Amino acid sequence: MSSNKIIKQKIAIGGKARIPAKAVTDRIVANETRYLMNTYERPPIVFTHGHGCRLYDSQGREYLDFLGGIAVNALGHAHPRMVRVIRREAGRAIHVSNLYRHRYQGLLARKLAELSGLDRVFFTNSGTEAIDAALKLARGYAHAKGGKGAYEAAGSPKSSILALENSFHGRTFGALSITDNAKYRNPFAPLVPGVKFVRFNDVNDLEAKFDSSVCAIVLETIQGEGGVYPVSSEFWQSARALATRHDAALIADEIQCGLGRTGRYFAYQKFDASPDIVAIAKPLAGGLPLGALLANDNFAGAFVPGLHGTTFGGGPLVCAAALEFLAVVQEAKLLANIRERSAELRTGIEKIAAHYPFIREIRGEGLMLGIDLSREGAPFVREALRSGLLINCTHGHVLRLLPPFIIRRRDVAEFLAKFEAVVSRVSKMKAQAKPGNTQAKTPAAALAATA
Ligand code: PLP
Repeated sequence: MSSNKIIKQKIAIGGKARIPAKAVTDRIVANETRYLMNTYERPPIVFTHGHGCRLYDSQGREYLDFLGGIAVNALGHAHPRMVRVIRREAGRAIHVSNLYRHRYQGLLARKLAELSGLDRVFFTNSGTEAIDAALKLARGYAHAKGGKGAYEAAGSPKSSILALENSFHGRTFGALSITDNAKYRNPFAPLVPGVKFVRFNDVNDLEAKFDSSVCAIVLETIQGEGGVYPVSSEFWQSARALATRHDAALIADEIQCGLGRTGRYFAYQKFDASPDIVAIAKPLAGGLPLGALLANDNFAGAFVPGLHGTTFGGGPLVCAAALEFLAVVQEAKLLANIRERSAELRTGIEKIAAHYPFIREIRGEGLMLGIDLSREGAPFVREALRSGLLINCTHGHVLRLLPPFIIRRRDVAEFLAKFEAVVSRVSKMKAQAKPGNTQAKTPAAALAATA
């Protein structure tokens, strides 16, 4: 179905008379505007269903989904194997409480341990909860090591946490406290104390700030929200060595870049040394809410019964879905597909970039790519949406692509053709370069320019 051909559908709502799709859309938008808290600026589009890497709206328009629910829909929409497992488990037991056992949690933990090289797993409902759990685990470990009474000792000497400038780790108080974006942090201050920010990929700054008071360093192996910036090998090795020297945890946030996105199961697997703790979430259960905290035995031992828990995390339905997701990635050889499609995408975008100097850099790995512009990205996202293409913009000027792992060669070709047309159309509009933005090559400079 052509993306710009609007089919005048009529939709039945709640058994009432069929009314025109446009009126249904207007009603949904009106309800959201009136009753939802104002946390998102959404276009007036209502998605009704999807198939593969395509989504369809209530007016019958088709969209090529190169955002994948921000790295969640790794198998696209309505993947038949995911649908089958979710239907089956919904008819068995959706939830049984973490007070009891069910058949999938241990199996999934084992699979994740094998893939990551770590030993133990705790399941959460989201990325931000996995990060909060990671911070608690690192502090709990340091306090336990501190000896008798250290749990109770507020302001224990080994409790400070290092995070990176330009980071994003989530929205709960713990995760927000290690997120370096004034726009997200300041309205909710004071945050969790004891956090220091290290300049991105700056080994000297890391060495200066990493002392014996540090119980953890947290980093995104590839910064996502911050504009798609990979951590350098040199920085990773230094963080690893310093964490080991000070008996602190190296925590990798792989919520966006993990679970296959780079063409490896974990982005850190390109480095020689492993982290102590890893947080994952987004694609894990194929769109159902599931996150996880993985840790080596040394750190994992700091959680004993009663110290941490969750009502919903790791129920049978979501764990069965996650096992199926991982089985599909393996059986359909999706890691190889990610690498091949990534190479085609990159080459295609580079060719387009050669004609448009305002495309100044293409960053990222696998199917996590950032297209850095010297102009505002929002007009490109809007024009892409009008053309039936879903992408997003982070940091004001980095177009972000996080397509499903299942994209085919012809999806990449379609994306490139549409994207080129979008770039061409927007380039003819009045340029909206951000003052001071054109030189912003580093994450910190980019942040300063957009804050
Ligand atoms: N960490 C990273 C790197 C993320 O990209 C995100 C979400 O975008 C989070 C943490 C927070 O995850 P969630 O939105 O599932 O709480």
